[in-house]
Amino acid sequence: MPSYDALQRQDPAVFEAVRGEMLRQAEGVELIPSENYISAAVMETMASVFNNKYSEGYPGRRYYGGQQFTDQVEALAIERAKALFGAGHANVQPHAGAPANVATYFALLEPGDTVLGMDLSHGGHLTHGHPVTYITKIYNFVRYKMKDIETGEIDYDEMREVALREKPKILLAGFSAYPREIDYARMKAIAEEVGAYAVADMAHIAGLIAGRAIRNPFDDGFDVILTTTHKTLRGPRGGMILSREAGLGKRIDKSVFPGFQGGPIMQMIAAKAVAFGEALKPEFADYAQQIVRNARHMAEKFMQSGTRLITNGTDNHLLMIDCVQSWDLTGGQAEELFDRVGITLNKNVIADDPRKPLDPSGIRLGTPAVTTRGMGEAEMDTLVDFMLRAVAERGDEAALDALHEEVKTFCRQYPVPGIDAL
Ligand SMILES: *Cc1c(COP(=O)(O)O)cnc(C)c1O
Repeated sequence: MPSYDALQRQDPAVFEAVRGEMLRQAEGVELIPSENYISAAVMETMASVFNNKYSEGYPGRRYYGGQQFTDQVEALAIERAKALFGAGHANVQPHAGAPANVATYFALLEPGDTVLGMDLSHGGHLTHGHPVTYITKIYNFVRYKMKDIETGEIDYDEMREVALREKPKILLAGFSAYPREIDYARMKAIAEEVGAYAVADMAHIAGLIAGRAIRNPFDDGFDVILTTTHKTLRGPRGGMILSREAGLGKRIDKSVFPGFQGGPIMQMIAAKAVAFGEALKPEFADYAQQIVRNARHMAEKFMQSGTRLITNGTDNHLLMIDCVQSWDLTGGQAEELFDRVGITLNKNVIADDPRKPLDPSGIRLGTPAVTTRGMGEAEMDTLVDFMLRAVAERGDEAALDALHEEVKTFCRQYPVPGIDAL
């Protein structure tokens, strides 16, 4: 990790915050399914002098001089991204997942066009047309849902009906709180029937797809995949847009720059190249598969204890728990209770939640970060035991203090990559 010597001398206040965050990450259990730990090599690259360079445009086609090395790292990031996902074209410049969504809409839609995406309370994401986002002033968003929240199966018949009625230009598969595999082939067939692009926002699951632990939507003919690079893909914070056929690439490139963004954040693009290089190694496939095994194991263990999981299990990296039915706690109370003992996760709406979005019934948790720390099935048992103890001991402050100490001791056995001994 960087030495932070200069920072410590120059700005003790910020240095203390950085140190505090390192300690928090090292001593706590991270179960937020969108979070992960980058490698020391990715971290070094993010802190590199590429920060100092303006490089509007694309490799070989820039608006400023001095681009030998920016061209080199961006070309590497593009080539590795294409190899990783079997894409015909890759744009690695989106600053994050939300801008990648917007740039994709700008590339494929005209104002007033319709997008058909997952209902937000059934696992869809804010960027798929939540009423609080400005994109809803430009495009029309309509929804499909799960048919059965016991199995999690999406209602593909309803999806087709809505598609035939609403004539969307994009049929969107993309989720931030959905624990099941998608029938991409069926979605692609519906998209073709109505003349829509089949687009997957795989922000959460890109690493699982790269490691072949779950299906790749391109294998079923999807047209575009967009993603973040910092969730299961374990790279720097950022976004990316891939298309199966190179032909769409020009429109996507123009939409990202100059259509939507300014200069690319080149130190992040260089760090994306490093992370994609890591993801191309066979060890990364082992990692991705272990994420899923750990999540399945955790789901089994919870269900054996009588905990109610939305869709009764998981096919990917995340679990949704109905806390009201399972433990007589709201999602917010459960989040707070686990935080109290050093276990971080987030409250979340569950499908058809009777409670309000800011005070929902559920929590969402996942295994990408703990798996990066080298934890396997045995450690998942320990984590579930910790959580069930916290639930049983709620209100007993001394018992929760003792449990918190136990969690810290446990965590010290599993170093966080990129954080040396503190
Ligand atoms: C996380 C996420 C995003 C947004 O990514 P940011 O980098 O936070 O902007 C978009 N779509 C989905 C499905 C996500 O899970």
